[in-house]
Amino acid sequence: MSFRLNDRAIEVRWSKGSCGQSGCADQECVCALCAKPIGVAEEILEQNNHDPECFGCEMCYDQVPIMLFRGEGKDMLQAAFHDRCFKSLCVVE
Ligand SMILES: [Zn+2]
Ligand SMILES: [Zn+2]
Ligand SMILES: [Zn+2]
Repeated sequence: MSFRLNDRAIEVRWSKGSCGQSGCADQECVCALCAKPIGVAEEILEQNNHDPECFGCEMCYDQVPIMLFRGEGKDMLQAAFHDRCFKSLCVVE
């Protein structure tokens, strides 16, 4: 399966790299399309007694961002997306 990005690709805000923490609200770490944090911070999962073995409830649904990269070496930029945001960006061919 291959895909290309649709016209919404111009809305993507590329970042120099995220800290990699789930639920982080920093500019460089949020979703490159909707600008909301991706995933849920660990302490919030703990507060909600989330099962660490779980891989499918609403809380962990967005834990793993979809990443795109462009450029090379120190000029490399990345963009992280929620699954649903990424889907709204691409045209599957
Ligand atoms: Zn961060
Ligand atoms: Zn998003
Ligand atoms: Zn879960």
